[in-house]
Amino acid sequence: MAENLTVHCIVDGQDYHVDEGLYLADLSTAIRQRVKQDYPQAKVTDFICGHHLLKYRLANVDAMISSDLKQSQKINRKLTRAMQSDDYEITDVNETLTKSLTFGERIADDVARFGGSWGFIGIFIFVLISWMLVNSLQLFGIHFDRFPFILLNLVLSCISAIQAPIIMMSQNRSADRDRMAAENDFHVNLKSEHELRILHAKLDHLSQNQIPHTLEIEKLQIEILSEIRSELAELRDHHK
Ligand SMILES: [Zn+2]
Repeated sequence: MAENLTVHCIVDGQDYHVDEGLYLADLSTAIRQRVKQDYPQAKVTDFICGHHLLKYRLANVDAMISSDLKQSQKINRKLTRAMQSDDYEITDVNETLTKSLTFGERIADDVARFGGSWGFIGIFIFVLISWMLVNSLQLFGIHFDRFPFILLNLVLSCISAIQAPIIMMSQNRSADRDRMAAENDFHVNLKSEHELRILHAKLDHLSQNQIPHTLEIEKLQIEILSEIRSELAELRDHHK
């Protein structure tokens, strides 16, 4: 090939110097496919001049840009749909529970809170010891419950019988709160995951298509620039 310095352009059939274009074998696959679409009989040993090659290269760039645009529009539409499709309304757990609170439940909460404090234990111990002292030592002549304090036993049984259901009531309410919070979390997580997936697709598209395409376009620009420079140098030589 290199011995014969004059070649024919496959597009218009005119004679060119080898430096004025490229053989199809030297083209990138995408551009070679484009040439073959227009000229099915073209072989890899055929030649194409720089002028006609530029046309195919620009068509290739156009195709890359429009396919990138379509892809990113598709991803953006998906993302918008995912963000709008959220029909789940996040409930304010504390507000909902406070609103639905009945008088009995509020008292149950207060009792449970007081029953689980050091203050309650201190008062309880004081009352127990006073009761026993008063009835054992018969202070002030009072002895309504002699040893072994049967009435005290009855009172303590009553207190613990009432206290258990009150604490359970309060625990049920905190279980309700947990359940609602978990439901909220589940929906938020689900939505975040969905959006993350789409964002991943967007990033993949950027790194796998858009950035390589941009680099390819840059390469083309540099090639065209160097062609212009060599032509300029030729012109300058002519003028000397
Ligand atoms: Zn040509």
